[in-house]
Amino acid sequence: MTIVAGCDVGSLAAKAVIMERRRVVATAIVRSGPKPAESAKKAMDEALSQAKLTMNDITWCVGTGYGREKIPFVTESVSEISCHGKGAQFLIPSVRSIIDIGGQDCKVIKLDAKGNLVKFITNDKCASGTGRFLDVMAKVMNISVSELGERSLIAKNPITLASICTVWAQADVIKHINARRPAADVCAGINVAMANRVSMLANALGLENDICMTGGVAKNKGVVHALGRIMGKRIKEIRQIDPQLMGALGAALFAHEQTKKGGAQS
Ligand code: ADP
Repeated sequence: MTIVAGCDVGSLAAKAVIMERRRVVATAIVRSGPKPAESAKKAMDEALSQAKLTMNDITWCVGTGYGREKIPFVTESVSEISCHGKGAQFLIPSVRSIIDIGGQDCKVIKLDAKGNLVKFITNDKCASGTGRFLDVMAKVMNISVSELGERSLIAKNPITLASICTVWAQADVIKHINARRPAADVCAGINVAMANRVSMLANALGLENDICMTGGVAKNKGVVHALGRIMGKRIKEIRQIDPQLMGALGAALFAHEQTKKGGAQS
C-alpha cells in the first residue's frame, strides 16, 4: 500500500491531501499562521488523524504554495502553478485554462492537451482581484466570505463600485450600506468588481476551453458566475473535491508519480 501526500501552504490557508493509489483518503484546510512550518504541520496532522495514519506511513510528500520551502517534512517541493495544473487536469482532463484565485494573488494558467504548462500570468501586486479583497469586503459587511457568494445570487440590482482599489472600494461599500441598499445587491457589486479585475488578467493571457477555477475564491459562486458572464465563457465547476485543495491535490499527484518512477518503494 503506497500512501502519498501533498501539502500546500498558502498566504491564508494551509491545505493537505493524502492519497492512496490516486484516490483521495483524507483532506484538511486550516488557517495559515505566521510560521509556514507550523501551518503545514497543523494541516497535515489533521489529514493524518482523519486517515488514522502517521507521517511514517507516507512514502512521498510534495510541498507547494508560497511557504513550500519551509515545510520540514516534505520529500520535495513543486511550484503551485504546476500543482494547480496537475490537480485540475486530473479532475477535468479536457481543461486547458485555469483561473486560480487565492488569498494574495490571482493566476491564469494555460495547459496543453497533455496537461503540461504552456504559459501563465499572475497578479500579485494589488489586493483587488485576490481573496483578500473579498475578505476585507465581507468584514465591512459583517458577514462571512461564503455568505458573500450565496447572498449575491439573489441580487436584483447590483451596486457598481466606483473603484477597484481595495481602500476606495471599502469606503464605497460603507456608503451603499448606509444608503440602505439591499445586502444582496452590495454583495453582487463586490463580486462583479472582483470578476472585472480578474477578467482583465484572463483576457491578457487569452483563455481556451475548457476553463475551470481553483483556489478558495472558486467557492464563491457569485464571482464564478460574474466572471463567466463578463468573459462570455463557460467555467466548468470542480465538484469532486473542494477547489481550495487543488494545489495540495496536484502536489499529492506529483508525489504519486515519484513513487511510480521508483523514487520510493511502492
Ligand atoms: P492561499 O493559498 O493564498 O492561502 P486559498 O486558495 O486558500 O489562498 O484561498 C483563500 C481565499 O479563499 C480567501 O481569501 C477567501 O476569500 C476564499 N474563501 C475561503 N473559503 C471560502 C468560502 N467558503 N466561500 C468563498 N470564499 C472562500
